[in-house]
Amino acid sequence: MASKRDSKAPTTGPKASLPGAPSPGTDPGENDLDALTAPPTEGELAELAAISAGPRRRFDALICDIDGCLVPENMDPLDAPALGRIAEHNKIAIKTGLLPVVTLCSGRPQPFVEAMCRLLHNTVLPCIAENGVWMYFPATNEYHRDPTISRDHMQAVHEAELWAEAELYPRGFSIQPGKTASVSFYHPDMAQLDPIMPVIEGAFKREGWPLRVSRTTCYVNCDLEHISKATGLDWLIAAAGLNPDRLAGFGDSQSDIPIAERVNYFACPSHHDPKLGAMAHHISTYHEAWAVLDVLERVLAE
Ligand SMILES: [Mg+2]
Repeated sequence: MASKRDSKAPTTGPKASLPGAPSPGTDPGENDLDALTAPPTEGELAELAAISAGPRRRFDALICDIDGCLVPENMDPLDAPALGRIAEHNKIAIKTGLLPVVTLCSGRPQPFVEAMCRLLHNTVLPCIAENGVWMYFPATNEYHRDPTISRDHMQAVHEAELWAEAELYPRGFSIQPGKTASVSFYHPDMAQLDPIMPVIEGAFKREGWPLRVSRTTCYVNCDLEHISKATGLDWLIAAAGLNPDRLAGFGDSQSDIPIAERVNYFACPSHHDPKLGAMAHHISTYHEAWAVLDVLERVLAE
């Protein structure tokens, strides 16, 4: 028997117009492509002039870490206005070719990185996810896993997960979902992270699992020994045909040292690891996404 709800026709759209929304019925994808291929409007050129001292581009890309750089390290909400402004920057950068495009190099799982890539309107440059395991191509929606990761490597990661389920879950640890060729352990009490690292390292050594153990603010990361942001960045630079002399980078922790080592200009947010800060050309006084905007709109535009 049909319910009351089934007997009603589905609603087809808002009765009143929605400010800022595209016209009902337009395909947002086509709309977007048209907008990208059309010449810049006077308004967009004025916006470009406002955020860049002149029509020149010293850098083709800004390779950016995510946690602590674009989003908070903890579970705090994302700063949507700041991220939206970076997306506006990327739209103008891609359309005019006069500003660096912001792309991503992160330890986060691929789905998180893909979502950030799309949020930031990077439609052209590949992103690195899971500390070098994955490269996501926004132009074609392809996902490539580092081809040097073998079946044996995947088996070792799987066995490490099973070991953790038995040994670490009872101690209050959990695994960050979404990772495929690495494991990240979380505990709501961050004081538990440092003491567990030698336990994890001991198990990996005993079992012969080729995994490297390191720490971020909120996680213990276990990555395949031969995979890192360094291998991911070399892969990204080669795949996208980027010139390191024309790259800028942004990071906040020691896992971002490979970014600093591969770019011509490197910057940090106000909260950063001192070892990385020593490698930076600029340390912003701002936090997270506003620090990235500080670099995009002020420092790189000078
Ligand atoms: Mg970070």
